[in-house]
Amino acid sequence: MKPFPRAEISAEALRHNLVRLRQFAPKSRVFAVVKANGYGHGLLNVAQCVTDADGFGLARLEEALQLREGGVKAKLLLLEGFFRQSDLPLLIEHNIDTVVHHESQVEMLEQAELSSPVTVWLKVDSGMHRLGIAPDDFDVIYQRLMECDNVAKPIHLMSHFACSDEPDNAMTARQIQVFEQLTENLPGDRTLANSAGALYWPSSRADWIRPGIALYGVSPVMGDVGRNHQLIPAMSLVSRLIAVRKHKAGESVGYGAYWTAQKDTRLGVVAIGYGDGYPRNAPEGTPVLINGRRVPIVGRVSMDMLTVDLGQDAEDKVGDEAELWGQALPVEEVAEHIGTIAYELVTKLTPRVAVCLD
Ligand SMILES: *Cc1c(COP(=O)(O)O)cnc(C)c1O
Repeated sequence: MKPFPRAEISAEALRHNLVRLRQFAPKSRVFAVVKANGYGHGLLNVAQCVTDADGFGLARLEEALQLREGGVKAKLLLLEGFFRQSDLPLLIEHNIDTVVHHESQVEMLEQAELSSPVTVWLKVDSGMHRLGIAPDDFDVIYQRLMECDNVAKPIHLMSHFACSDEPDNAMTARQIQVFEQLTENLPGDRTLANSAGALYWPSSRADWIRPGIALYGVSPVMGDVGRNHQLIPAMSLVSRLIAVRKHKAGESVGYGAYWTAQKDTRLGVVAIGYGDGYPRNAPEGTPVLINGRRVPIVGRVSMDMLTVDLGQDAEDKVGDEAELWGQALPVEEVAEHIGTIAYELVTKLTPRVAVCLD
């Protein structure tokens, strides 16, 4: 019997989305970004499905080591770089590329004694102002890395966008320009584009794209869904009805007696709650898909359950499946009801939700 609640992951959708992203950027290689447990889809699940990716992007060394332990041989890149000097021998032992975004990392590279050089992607702050070497400091840092025997040559180059998910925001074009001017005539590979860059900013595609959310079939843009780009959502979050109750007009439901029925109806109780990562702040009206119908959440989401208004004539039964998001109910739409982004919903599921690859 299938567990519930569960996140069903479609291997076919993941593979399709990689093919689709390559259509957007046919000249680029692809770092499939699988940080945060493959955006909640399961780190090894995703890596083992999208074996055609040219490499994988991770946020933390531990994530990269898990991939190596799982037998993944592809190129791996630490998008935030290494954090400690003692990480460096592990990068060499396991053949992991690192971003260098800060002078402290340059110092650690200069001071380390390593058996062979590390492959470095030097991150330029082209305007996001979170991580990266400021344009004024770029030449000095680049020269230090060139003179450092612990750094493999050529040095590769990267940057990250602040507003690429806003297709009309001129900031992205300015960031591309800053990056291109600074790195003109330098050897090495270049990478700028996250999902939104790959979808919307052709001049950002460069040698490598770094899609995360689009690989999972989800659009990075507010008010948009993956389907508009022929991407297929890879995750369906599924649970089931554990009670169907007759409910009279004037009766409330749940903690805080927060919602009161205007007329006689039937309420369904779905076995999923904030203890599974479904947000407690999901407001009344957030849709849930049951037997092909969108029904609204009513009352407060509790730890293990939530309640939906099935309607007076509903024939839904205990044991029927409820989809919280998936191919017929885009996670982008659910996120909009809740006032967050799809990224947060898919990455916040707790270990109590079984992740099932099919
Ligand atoms: C997470 C991340 C990405 C992927 O971003 P999406 O918007 O999910 O495509 C790309 N590059 C860097 C540096 C990241 O941290």
